[in-house]
Amino acid sequence: MMKDALLKTFGLDDVVPAVFTGRTPYLGGSREIICNSPVDSQMIKAFKGASSSQTQDLIHMAVEGSEKWRKLPIVKRADVLTSLVMAFEARKEDLANLITLENGKIIDDSRAEIQNLIDMFNHAKGLSRTIGGQEFLSQFQDRRNLEVWHPVGVVALITPFNFPISIWGWNAALALLTGNSIIWKPAPQTPLCAIAVHKIIQGVLERHPEVPEGVFNLCAGALEETALIITNSTDVPVVCATGSTIMGKQVALSVGARLGKHVLELGGSAAAIVTPDANIDLTIRTVFISALSNTGQRCTALRRLMVHETIYDQFIARLKKLYEQIQFGDVFESGFRLAPLIDKDAKARFDKKIRNLKDQNFRLYSPSKYKLPDEGSYVRPYICLLDEMSQQPQDETFGPLLFVQPYRHFDIALKRMNATNFGLSSGLFTNNLSETQRFYSSEGSDAGMAMVNTNTGGIEVGLAFGGNKDSGGGREIGSDSWKNFMRRQTVIINTSDQLPELDGIDFETESN
Ligand code: NAD
Repeated sequence: MMKDALLKTFGLDDVVPAVFTGRTPYLGGSREIICNSPVDSQMIKAFKGASSSQTQDLIHMAVEGSEKWRKLPIVKRADVLTSLVMAFEARKEDLANLITLENGKIIDDSRAEIQNLIDMFNHAKGLSRTIGGQEFLSQFQDRRNLEVWHPVGVVALITPFNFPISIWGWNAALALLTGNSIIWKPAPQTPLCAIAVHKIIQGVLERHPEVPEGVFNLCAGALEETALIITNSTDVPVVCATGSTIMGKQVALSVGARLGKHVLELGGSAAAIVTPDANIDLTIRTVFISALSNTGQRCTALRRLMVHETIYDQFIARLKKLYEQIQFGDVFESGFRLAPLIDKDAKARFDKKIRNLKDQNFRLYSPSKYKLPDEGSYVRPYICLLDEMSQQPQDETFGPLLFVQPYRHFDIALKRMNATNFGLSSGLFTNNLSETQRFYSSEGSDAGMAMVNTNTGGIEVGLAFGGNKDSGGGREIGSDSWKNFMRRQTVIINTSDQLPELDGIDFETESN
């Protein structure tokens, strides 16, 4: 679809509002935001970003919205999620096209992102009949001991560019279901995706008069200083922030200083081990996708691969053969191709990294036939071949760069896997049961996710997503992640005429 027609379908062809409180859109402040497409470096749209005072007002609106929204029974809130699912389904192709235009990822990945959003909202609405507390039987007569859960109030969602819509959806779906209002601060590179989602929400709210204003809030194009207003505010008890580790540490300081709660999903440096008895056909294909999907711009992207020395040469030869097939092509057409990096700055950082590796005489391979287009922020894919004893990289390269290294002893490979500050995802390719068990035992991978014979980035919405160490420690989407958005209350109800805790005090004597 042509760019102008696509913007028109979302009502973004004219002036673009930066702030939403649900039904009501507002134009932003004075600062102009220019949105360029990484596909051809051309401008998509310019608009005025949300100002600090607007963000402050949004927090007040969100507090008021949450006080009304939490009174609605959970199944009524789930009904709104159902309507959102239908609306996202109806606009799936348009949303996918907008992601590809603004973020640059290939259309199949953009479609998968919207499907993931839909799956998450479906997952959340399913929880509406099961979320709740529990009873602990009392040691005393005629007492009930309960644990109950309440909404926290306002939840802030700070999101990165690489999944411009679904990461909002992961937390939005659960935060809304559990009775909170939300404030979304999207990444500076992808505000139009967030605004388009809010245009869809606007339409849904027309059919849901029971939803108060101030539940679905957006401040697009807000500066990071503006985000500080949110992270510093005691009116925002929970801040979910996804992005770089540097950002996470700043958010942790600001939210922690006021003893608020943060859910941090940060950088990663996933490693995987390929053992001699792995299914090599499956492994090669999975490694290719894990390393190159979204051009390596995934927190869970495979960055370090250790292959057993007995199969190393054969494995590298086959992996190179697959890399030779990578072609540049239209990202709006279905089929695998290498997408551009998010912008010129990201491209410059990646190119510098490759130059540094070359200067340090690292062995680098890049497919010989791959030709870079003239426009857009495209880069070449690389494999860096390390010797068995070489130190692995410690930083996160957000691009198509895979380090591969032979190993001799499984336990040493495991140690190397963990020898990084990150701890998000990890992988093992094997059919060996004891190595599999060792990999996910307490002695094995220290990452939040341990994947056997599958993509380091593939996760289902029913499971907890997140990592340890510099990867943030937060857990999102499945399992008990809904607890991020609820405050726990311990309740004791005594219906007897006894107070067992006061044993030993004679009240009769005292009153005489
Ligand atoms: P980024 O840290 O530059 O920005 C992420 C978001 O944080 C943006 O909205 C940005 O405006 C905001 N931000 C930055 N500094 C802030 C501050 N001091 N206070 C408040 N908000 C602030 O990250 P990015 O470049 O958009 O995304 C790439 C990074 O995100 C990578 O490191 C990647 O690994 C990570 N990521 C992690 C996960 C995960 O679930 N663990 C998922 C996707 C991306």
